[in-house]
Amino acid sequence: MPEKILVVEDEPTLQETISYNLEKQGYAVTVVGDGREALNAARSMDPDLLLLDLMLPGLDGLEITRILRREMNVPIIMLTARDEEIDRVLGLEMGADDYLTKPFSMRELMARVKAQLRRSRLHQEELERYTEKDSPQETLSFGKLEINITRHEVTLAGEVISLKPKEYELLLFFAEHRGQMLTREFILERVWGWDYVGDSRTVDVHIRWLRKKIEDDPANPERIITVRGGGYRFEG
Ligand code: CA
Repeated sequence: MPEKILVVEDEPTLQETISYNLEKQGYAVTVVGDGREALNAARSMDPDLLLLDLMLPGLDGLEITRILRREMNVPIIMLTARDEEIDRVLGLEMGADDYLTKPFSMRELMARVKAQLRRSRLHQEELERYTEKDSPQETLSFGKLEINITRHEVTLAGEVISLKPKEYELLLFFAEHRGQMLTREFILERVWGWDYVGDSRTVDVHIRWLRKKIEDDPANPERIITVRGGGYRFEG
């Protein structure tokens, strides 16, 4: 079965170019041009990937991401005409997985689509492995910090802490590589699916957010340590 991609874009030329190129690669493509339609389409077709324009009639891309993140795990690539850092961080904080600023080349878009689908498949396989191995509950413990993999829930001294989807994935990735020095580029590739040395600041921003939630003193972290020379190490 071909992978299903939902394209949400209100500009006709771009709609056509994107869907033409995706179909050429063998994907099953659905295109909508309105924010509310996008929600309905996503719910009914359960896509493997979402390409989402930021500025849309109806609901904007950030709003759609916020809503869908609570309902499904679909990878989301945001398309935007604005290249301001604030939008970038906002989009990622809301739960987008990647970000492309217009104008972008179709070649670049296809590379990102492939990377996100691959990452999503790996993630799915990992989840299935955990479910097979230890049902019903699989928990990783690091002192007061516990990660319940089955429930996607993290607790600190027994209290559930609220993590955004990417913060959770990042923490789980660290937990699975405890004690290893991980470069920003490696983290970016494995957690975000970006297979290029792009915006490693994204990693720093998310680690800052994560430290605020899981460290006793975020200014002197004891769990996620910064390693000289460009990386991080999870001590547990
Ligand atoms: Ca638009």
